[in-house]
Amino acid sequence: MLAGSLAVARQDPKRRRALPIPKSVAEMKEFVPDSSIVSDVIPSPNFGERSKGRTPDMIVLHYTGMPDVEGALARLCQAGTEVSAHYVVLEDGRVVQCVQESKRAWHAGLSSWAGEEDINSCSIGIEIVNRGHDWGYPDFPLRQVAAVIALCRGIIIRRNVAPHRILAHSDVAPERKQDPGEKFPWRALWDSGVGHWVPPAPISRGEVMKLGADGPEVLALQNSLAQYGYGLTPSGQYDQATAAVVTAFQRHFRPQKVDGIADTSTVATLQALLAGRPTAAKA
Ligand SMILES: [Zn+2]
Repeated sequence: MLAGSLAVARQDPKRRRALPIPKSVAEMKEFVPDSSIVSDVIPSPNFGERSKGRTPDMIVLHYTGMPDVEGALARLCQAGTEVSAHYVVLEDGRVVQCVQESKRAWHAGLSSWAGEEDINSCSIGIEIVNRGHDWGYPDFPLRQVAAVIALCRGIIIRRNVAPHRILAHSDVAPERKQDPGEKFPWRALWDSGVGHWVPPAPISRGEVMKLGADGPEVLALQNSLAQYGYGLTPSGQYDQATAAVVTAFQRHFRPQKVDGIADTSTVATLQALLAGRPTAAKA
């Protein structure tokens, strides 16, 4: 649908498939990629300066949520969309850099984590090409997951990112976002030294908390979620915001059942994460 706005890719013709480069960036100056595994630089004009010289110490993972890679790259790299990311990881494992790590890319939107609200200023954003929930939500190919892992490992070393600050977009914007979603293999990342994860507690019968509940147990749950970093104000009321945060938590840490209901498995998994967190969350 965006074919008319795309220029021919400038790259090695031996490549399996040319990358479509949006016309509007054809004049933009290329930069030296921050990561050695970047195969292509497609500079996006959609970035600014990080607030007050903030250096990135968080990684936010997204999916593109669009039917094809051409449309996704056009959206991230064309002026006027006000959207971008530092990196795009294609399904075949190729890694494209669109914004330099030192700059503030526009990927997180209205977000918060561990008391911080300008997530774009403190993070590096990685868009993983996947059509997303609205377009069939395919599995993430192994080559692509391996590329995400390799990319993150480099960023972790360069930027000293703590494991519990490698997050989903849905973690930092639980009421608006669901990417990269419950099919994203966080366990595989953990097995490769990327991110924070514990084996989810088995799902069993027992007490549950859900929308409409209130009381000290709900307050304790909210306190634990906020302590881990979620942007939730503890009130003792299991409201829509609480259900959204529980849903986001499940997508990341207990993907076997994503329903926004705090069952015993969800609560036990959260407690195990809190107990095993390598260092305290940054305020
Ligand atoms: Zn996203």
